This record gives sequence, C-alpha cells and structure tokens, in this order.
Amino acid sequence: MLKNLKMVKQVIFGRGCLNQLDTVLNQQRQNADNDGIVFLVDHVFKNGTLKDQLPRQDCDLLLWINTDAEPTTAYADQLKTDILAYCSKPAGIVGIGGGSTLDLAKTLSILLTNSGSAKDYQGWDLVPYPGIYHVGIPTLSGTGAEASRTAVLKGPDKKLGVNSDYSVFDQILLDPELTMGVPEEQQFFTGMDCYIHCAEALSGSYANAFSTSYGEKALELCRQVFLGISKDAAADLMMASYFGGLSIAYSQVGVCHALSYGLSFVLGVRHGVGNCMVFEHLGDFYPDFVNEYYKMKAVNAIKLPIIDGSRLTGKELDQMIKMALFLEPLWENAMGKDWKKRITHQRLQELYLSILT
Ligand code: NAD
Ligand code: ZN
Repeated sequence: MLKNLKMVKQVIFGRGCLNQLDTVLNQQRQNADNDGIVFLVDHVFKNGTLKDQLPRQDCDLLLWINTDAEPTTAYADQLKTDILAYCSKPAGIVGIGGGSTLDLAKTLSILLTNSGSAKDYQGWDLVPYPGIYHVGIPTLSGTGAEASRTAVLKGPDKKLGVNSDYSVFDQILLDPELTMGVPEEQQFFTGMDCYIHCAEALSGSYANAFSTSYGEKALELCRQVFLGISKDAAADLMMASYFGGLSIAYSQVGVCHALSYGLSFVLGVRHGVGNCMVFEHLGDFYPDFVNEYYKMKAVNAIKLPIIDGSRLTGKELDQMIKMALFLEPLWENAMGKDWKKRITHQRLQELYLSILT
C-alpha cells in the first residue's frame, strides 16, 4: 500500500508573516463555540518582545515551554493538566518555537481530545480522535517538525514519535524573522538535522520521486546556507527545513537517526548535536555526505561537545543499542530488507564506542 500523506492544510511564508496570525486565529475564534487560544511559546522568548506581538485576548492562555531538555511524555501530560485547569476546550493551540515546542503543540492538540497519557500514543496511528485546531510557528529551522505528522517525545521506555494524521498542523506560519536571534552553533546543529534528513532520504531504499524532489532542493538550500553562499540564509533554511520534512515524510530517515535516538534516550544528548556526533562516524554509509558535512562544519568553525564514553556502563550501552535496533523502518530504509544480516548488536556496539571516545 502506498502512503496516503496528510500534509499541512495552510502555509504562510515570508518575513513578518507573524502579523497575519491575528487574521488566521480570528477565523478560528468565530468558528468555535469554545474557549480561547492556548499559546505554547519557547521560554527563550520570555524576556523579549515576541509576547507583545501575539494577538492575545483575555480568554487566551500563554504557557512558556521549557526547552532545556527534549520534550517528554510526562511534560506533555503536565501541560495537558495545566491547560485543563484553565479551560476545557480551547479554540486552538499555537506552538511557537523549535522542534521541541512544535512537537509539544502537536501532542497537546491530540491529548485534549483523547484520554490518557502522551505515552499511550507513541507509535504509529494509535490516536482515535482528531485533535484540536493547531498552528505551528517555527523559530528555529531544521527539524521539519512544522511539516511532519510526527511529534517526537521521550517516554519512560523509549524515545518515539506520536505519528498520526491528527498531529499534522492545520496551519503553519513560516516567518524567517523569528529565527534571527538563534545562536550560530544552535542553528548549525538544527540545520544539520535537515541536511542529514535529506542525506538519509536520498540514499535510502525508500527513496522515490516525491521524497527525492523535496530532498534535493532542501539539500541544495542547506549547502548554500552552510557554505556561506546564500543571499538570505534565514529564509533559505526555513524552506530547507520544510522541504526536508516533506522528503522524510514520504520516505524515511536512516542510520544516523537510529543511533542518535539511542544517544538522546540514554545520555540526554540533544537531537541536532547527537546527529552531528553520529554522522561524523558514518563514512561507510554516507561517504559523500559525510565529507560535505565536514566542509560545512569547518566553514562554520563548529566544535562538537565531547562525551566521555569511559563513564558509560554496559547497561547504558545495551539500552542505546536496543533503542536503535527498535527503529526497524529506519534500518530497512538505510540498508534494505535484509538489514539484519549486516546490522548486528556487535556492529552497533563498535559504532557507539567509536562515537563516544
Ligand atoms: P529545540 O526546539 O529543542 O530548541 C533548541 C534551543 O534553541 C532551545 O534552547 C531553544 O530555546 C532555542 N531556540 C529556539 N528558537 C530560538 C530563537 N529564535 N532564538 C534563540 N534561541 C532559540 O531545538 P530543535 O533542534 O528545533 O528541535 C529538537 C527537537 O525536535 C527534538 O526533540 C527532536 O527529537 C525533534 N524533532 C522532531 C522532528 C519531527 O518531525 N517532529 C524531526 C526532527 C527532530
Ligand atoms: Zn532529525
């Protein structure tokens, strides 16, 4: 069966388009016989002027999202409680931030119409009822979370997305202005997430004309941005992120993401950083892309954090390997249907130990 891809219904792109949020929400406020809008905004904006630009009304709720660590199912559950303490049926949810905040907005949209905890919905197509109208506004480009139906969360026993047609944003606003304050290093790490999405989608056995068309364009934009030849890096990277998200949405990621999920789940390494740490060791899998990655890293004078692998326990290493191997579609995309012949516990142990020394 071929994938029946649910895509974001409406997109506004361009500098300053945050100003159109009022118009967008007004339509929703009129349609709904319910409460105000819930704004979930990355806490990095707490002391800035962004909150004054939001078209808030008295009935609305603004919650600052703590992004000091990647989002967990427990945090999503806590936000659900916080929202329900204020209103029973919001007219909409607006997520403003990087991938972490966007994924929480998608999750909350679902949790408010479905009972139970976020961890119950980690997996594929487990959500029974449509979520609340939700809008995504990225302030950091690269994850493609604005385009995808995935809301990645760390749960008690795994890091895994809530993958549902109901999580796809109803509306996104892509305003490059909002990324202007991102620290360069952070933009590199999250931008490399996009580059690696494309490398994995283009190299994988699931590649097809849909995923390749978006992936090639996104890759070209990433190159221009990180090799310093883009004329409008903020706009180019924002489109790269969106296209990269669509590319993997109609194919799959691969080896780097499988291993990076293990690092994130067990050691708390953040997605963009973890991807870079892993990708540097994947010359056997993605040789040309890894070479180009090193060029971009040099041009941007990036230093990766070093994680001391000597403190890693055997149990942690096993947990990481188990987490990575659990992501079977990623391996199948990367290596083909008989991937289990080549990807063994031993091979992953060697890879993790080379990454963590
Ligand atoms: P993030 O959202 O975790 O944010 C990283 C840091 O950047 C935070 O400190 C945040 O406060 C800061 N930041 C964000 N916008 C800023 C701005 N404009 N100015 C200054 N600082 C800003 O980072 P991310 O890399 O965008 O997202 C990572 C998360 O996305 C991970 O949880 C990962 O698993 C997930 N992810 C999701 C998908 C998907 O399809 N849903 C795809 C890839 C990754
Ligand atoms: Zn990614």
